[in-house]
Amino acid sequence: MNEMSPVTVEEITFPSDQDSSGRTFGQEEIDLLTKVIQSGTLTATKGTMVKDFADTFAKMVGAKYAYACASGTAALHAAIAAVDPKPGDEIITTSITDMGAITPILYQGAIPVFADVDPVTMNVTPETIAKVISPKTKAIMVTHLFGNPAELAKIKALADKHKLALIEDCAQAFMAKENGRFVGTVGDVGCFSLQQGKHITAGEGGIVVTNDENVARRLRLFIDKAWGYGDPKPDHYFLAINYRMTELAGAVGLAQLGKLQFSVDQRRKMADRLSSQLEGLEGITLPVVADDAEHTYWRYCIMVDPTKIEGGPVALAGKLKAYNVASGPRYIQKPAFECQVLRDQVTFGDSKWPFTLARPEAVDYAPANFPGTYKALNEVLVLPWNERYVEKHIDHIAGAIRAQHKTLLKG
Ligand SMILES: *Cc1c(COP(=O)(O)O)cnc(C)c1O
Repeated sequence: MNEMSPVTVEEITFPSDQDSSGRTFGQEEIDLLTKVIQSGTLTATKGTMVKDFADTFAKMVGAKYAYACASGTAALHAAIAAVDPKPGDEIITTSITDMGAITPILYQGAIPVFADVDPVTMNVTPETIAKVISPKTKAIMVTHLFGNPAELAKIKALADKHKLALIEDCAQAFMAKENGRFVGTVGDVGCFSLQQGKHITAGEGGIVVTNDENVARRLRLFIDKAWGYGDPKPDHYFLAINYRMTELAGAVGLAQLGKLQFSVDQRRKMADRLSSQLEGLEGITLPVVADDAEHTYWRYCIMVDPTKIEGGPVALAGKLKAYNVASGPRYIQKPAFECQVLRDQVTFGDSKWPFTLARPEAVDYAPANFPGTYKALNEVLVLPWNERYVEKHIDHIAGAIRAQHKTLLKG
């Protein structure tokens, strides 16, 4: 086959999570939105939609308390504020995640300390976390990347042993399970996002869940300026912000919850189909899911070994374009700590606070400390994924990868 010639596979377009082609919106969202508009009450402090949304989600994952908020970043910020670090306390996080999981740590005056990741799952592990625990560590924040749960039971045991709080970033991991439990319900706080490209969406939005009454109170207060609604003598109790979700977003979120299981089931079914079709390709590693875990595939990622496959993931991504198959080498351009805000410590004025309080080891971003991170970013190829993928999309992707794998395989 001529390298540049269009391939002989059928022309195909893929559903996108950036518009209705890859999403699940329908009459259910419109009906609840209409109800909100007709009621005239768009604020969650007076309406019921946001409360119904959060309560319904709490039941779905088996959490005692859930509160909705403005974004996944807001959810993570509330979680950190609930843990209540002192300036200079350390919060262990991951080098490969969304920046929304890191900047809230700095806003609360704490220091993000990066644990390395497993080079195949791209998740932090009990071992990489243990390495960076210090007397200043206040909490561990785990991102279940791409919907594949981290080793949660072991990380929880590690957190307990060192008396650390555990925050779970489940923005990409709705309904994923580890050890029989939904992610988000094992740590002290679980955080979810309803941004456009997540499993379900209200455009923007977030949820926090917890089983602890005191944590729940702090979460609820932080999202709403720490005003003690309903208390005998309400006041603004502590430094907090307005991160409330609107009733409009709550209406869409509530309708979307009815479709969450479909989204998860369909993503998983199609992922299993792709895995079975890609099995056995030399130099390609398929998603690795622990025996006791359930992956919910926000994205489907493979690892492409550049010592076996000419040009690695970049070359393969280039070849896949001719088949109309989009894919992203690297996922994020660079580890979080190489981003300008962290690298140059661009925070409040020219103060560099709170980095001024950090132990030198806590902000030592030497590449030698992060072998898993660099290996993963050099080998990962991320395939867009959503609940509207059906068999023909999977078979097309598999055919394209198998064909190009043959042409790029070395030796
Ligand atoms: C999307 C995402 C966030 C941030 O959520 P927003 O709703 O965009 O603020 C945080 N962490 C991870 C892992 C994410 O994927």
